[in-house]
Amino acid sequence: MNPWFAKVIILLASIVMVAIRAPHGQRSRGIPVAKSRRGILELVLLTIAWLAFFLPLIWVVAPVLASADYPLRPLPFFTGTLCLALGLWLFHRSHADLGTNWSITLEVREKHRLVTQGLYRRIRHPMYMALLLYSAGQALVLPNYVAGPSYGVAMALLVALRVGVEERMMLEEFGKDYSEYMARTKRLVPGVW
Ligand code: SAH
Repeated sequence: MNPWFAKVIILLASIVMVAIRAPHGQRSRGIPVAKSRRGILELVLLTIAWLAFFLPLIWVVAPVLASADYPLRPLPFFTGTLCLALGLWLFHRSHADLGTNWSITLEVREKHRLVTQGLYRRIRHPMYMALLLYSAGQALVLPNYVAGPSYGVAMALLVALRVGVEERMMLEEFGKDYSEYMARTKRLVPGVW
């Protein structure tokens, strides 16, 4: 397949992701932070995530990573496009469910409310699930050994190193409500884990 198919999908998916996030990012800046866990690890993880988000866009516009290209095949392309679409839908829904309780990093906002509805009814981290699905889609669609898996590596690191810290922060903040919520939900996959 012509790699331009991949370029169009990667570009479109990135634009949709930024468009979904932008209004939430803007709104959250206006809500005071009550407690922050933004340490050095968070800074490193977020920096890696940003770099890994832009690498595929660099692949789209410039041939700097061309030596790591491989041929685009229909099956990974279409499966990856499906993963991207599902990831973006979950990303949109989890943002809608979290509302003003969302933060880009580990923070508790003033008047923070524990969300247990919508996607949060069965799993505690639907937004991380969305980002993992999105990055799996990108790895399948983008035929380059470096730019393809870059966001996946960054998201896997972020989720692996953040989830436990985030849950401890939520437990400290919401106590029994959060431990009961933990007991009836899974982390990422409904009914599994
Ligand atoms: N881990 C969640 C949220 C990611 S955004 C997910 O993957 O969907 C990270 C911020 O969301 C954290 O700093 C925390 O303040 C907030 N948060 C996480 N779970 C929450 C919940 N169930 N209700 C309200 N806020 C939550």
